Amino acid sequence: MILWDAENQQLMTPLCRNCPEDYFAPYRPHFEHVGCCSYSPVFSLYELWKMVSSGHREFFINNIYRNPNRTVKEYSVVVHAHVHPEFELYTKECDWRDAEEEFKLSFSICQFFVKGKGCGLDPRFKNGTCRSFICSAVEERLDQKGRVLLQDSARQIRYEVETFNQVHQDALSKKGWNLIDHLPQVLDYLEQL
Ligand code: SF4
Ligand code: SF4
Repeated sequence: MILWDAENQQLMTPLCRNCPEDYFAPYRPHFEHVGCCSYSPVFSLYELWKMVSSGHREFFINNIYRNPNRTVKEYSVVVHAHVHPEFELYTKECDWRDAEEEFKLSFSICQFFVKGKGCGLDPRFKNGTCRSFICSAVEERLDQKGRVLLQDSARQIRYEVETFNQVHQDALSKKGWNLIDHLPQVLDYLEQL
């Protein structure tokens, strides 16, 4: 079963409490089982706008932009998941770069995951992937109505985020501003929308 949380524009399912998806199972039984929250979320201009326009500029700066394990790109910031130190033991002697990122997921936990709760991020600030992702193990259990809801909601989320990002990335690019070199200008621009 999936549910549409209209207030926060996100899909939810109670199945996440006991995640049945083998693909996201932890590599070792003593690791925390976080399901698809092994992901490293990417915060785009859309999520930044949500933060600054609701008065949470400091949250963005302190927890995302200045996060010690993040990558700032021109128009997005990736907050890298914590990777269990045992990952190094399994990869040290292997030459499998292509599969490494996928394998790393089973050793990883998103920095915003809270044990016993799930996502600790304000739901308004979750990115489009986190608001729309439903794994194949859940999808297989859906009836026709659930599948239509999944497809329509995911499409709606993707369209809204991509359109916003395209328009405002173009506008910022014309001004010559980006997140790497012009943080105050980009945040002021988003706040004034
Ligand atoms: S969406 Fe699927 S993989 Fe992600 S936590 Fe829920 S059940 Fe697990
Ligand atoms: S931001 Fe929240 S929903 Fe997204 S991966 Fe992290 S804990 Fe999970």
